[in-house]
Amino acid sequence: MIPDDRRHPLLIVGSLAFDSVETPTDKVERALGGSASFASIAASYYSQPQVVGIVGTDFTDHHMSRMLDHKVDTAGVERVAGETFHWRGRYHSNFKERDTLETALNVFESFDPVLPEAYRDAPVVFLGNIAPELQLKVLEQARGARLVALDTMNFWIETARDALIEVLKRVDILLINDEEAVQLSGADSVVEAAAHIRALGPKYLVIKRGEYGAILFGPDSTLYVPAMLLSNVVDPTGAGDTFAGGFIGHLSSSGSLDRATLGGALLTGTVMASFAVEAFSVDGICGLKAERVAGRRAELEAMIRY
Ligand code: AMP
Repeated sequence: MIPDDRRHPLLIVGSLAFDSVETPTDKVERALGGSASFASIAASYYSQPQVVGIVGTDFTDHHMSRMLDHKVDTAGVERVAGETFHWRGRYHSNFKERDTLETALNVFESFDPVLPEAYRDAPVVFLGNIAPELQLKVLEQARGARLVALDTMNFWIETARDALIEVLKRVDILLINDEEAVQLSGADSVVEAAAHIRALGPKYLVIKRGEYGAILFGPDSTLYVPAMLLSNVVDPTGAGDTFAGGFIGHLSSSGSLDRATLGGALLTGTVMASFAVEAFSVDGICGLKAERVAGRRAELEAMIRY
């Protein structure tokens, strides 16, 4: 599945984290997580991710190897004295809603990203979920950026709204979930929220709706893809980041934003996210064989072709 000759550099900034997660049926402590981990591994099946981020001394070579095994470039990941970002969450009985119990930024608090020279010409940039100030600092150094996508979450909408609005002015594609879209815009419905958010800067908006699929609002068209129908959800954590990684990985490898390519990117994001939720941490998206990914994509396409 991982192409040998990947000519599509994709610059990704985001969190590299330890996640402690409790679901209605199971739990895990300090497993590898973070928006950049999920997004870069998902994107690695389609492009050459170059990750910018920071970890503490508790982040071992084993954790790093999950990305390196997928040929993710980690030259832009700093390891410094201190503790890695830690997130703790608990899902409600339906696996949909969750409470964040702890967000410890740790080494991210004093992170001042400096992009390796080799990263600066990447034509596609994914500003994964992390402090908007950091997303902006990365964008300012990405001189080759021609397509910029951004993901964020409630935490940053609440605590760093002004910086987020600032960076949104420079973004082509925003990916967020439906609750965040409503929270960011103050609108009541997803459709109203979309109009409001696109006026803030992003030409394209992808609203992720969990088990109800994803909608892309663009200047020329609105596209919708349902989620895969899954019987074995283990842990939804990282589904959004994985969706984003698959979506932007697909776009970076195709170099177009026409309707068919955007639709293909939605399908890719959906398929990758479906693997993520079937296991804890990044386990569901590591080492996927081409046939498995293609098989699931065919299943999804068959479901929406009448
Ligand atoms: P998702 O389930 O796609 O919303 O993403 C969950 C992932 O985001 C987890 O792996 C967390 O480590 C990471 N995360 C949670 N809160 C934040 C935050 N405030 N900033 C950056 N990453 C976060």
